[in-house]
Amino acid sequence: MDFRELERIVVEFRDARSWKKYHTPKNLAISAVVELGELFEHFQWLSDEEILEAVKNPQKKEEVADEIADVIIYLVLLAHELGIDLDEAVGRKIRKNEAKYPLPGD
Ligand SMILES: [Mg+2]
Repeated sequence: MDFRELERIVVEFRDARSWKKYHTPKNLAISAVVELGELFEHFQWLSDEEILEAVKNPQKKEEVADEIADVIIYLVLLAHELGIDLDEAVGRKIRKNEAKYPLPGD
């Protein structure tokens, strides 16, 4: 699934429930941060080693995956509302990063 397909799915889900009126750019940006906070709750007070151990539990891993998905869904909706093509934006940003941080010897 690429970003365009994901965008189509989440916008269809949203519009079928008449939630577009709530999806202003500011509300979507805030919602993405709220969901990121929910992701951080799973990591709070744990070391990296403890986090990696915790996600060996399938239920815990799914809970963490759900929060990552929530963040991505809100960012896809935000990009949709702003008219940003995420496939283009991510590809362009990766190329910028490659130019900014060339491999040694390049
Ligand atoms: Mg959530």
